[in-house]
Amino acid sequence: MRCDEVATLLPSLLDGVDASNVEVERHVHQCLRCQAELARYRKLKRAMEQLRTRYVEPTPGLLGETLAALTDAAEQGAIRSMVTARRLAYAGAITGTAATAAVTAALLISRSRKRAGMRLAG
Ligand SMILES: [Zn+2]
Repeated sequence: MRCDEVATLLPSLLDGVDASNVEVERHVHQCLRCQAELARYRKLKRAMEQLRTRYVEPTPGLLGETLAALTDAAEQGAIRSMVTARRLAYAGAITGTAATAAVTAALLISRSRKRAGMRLAG
């Protein structure tokens, strides 16, 4: 088995020995890279288990601080999107002007060619 094939099956190794994991286990036993990856999964699993059993007492001002932070983030996001919208409008105006100029130039060129052609024909 290759490392990328094993990588997707590594989390299943954490849940215990399974008959279908024998090949994976054999690879991990020989491969330092996958051993390191498995160690990271074990560490992550341990951290998540600790989070599950840990109860965090909220401080009295936590709700207010969280709401203030959310409001700030929302305002910053709104400002950022306004700036982006202005930039897009500006770019659109430039593009529109350039497109209009190109169409006008094409029309003028085709008209002058038609006139020249008529003169040549007549
Ligand atoms: Zn490997």
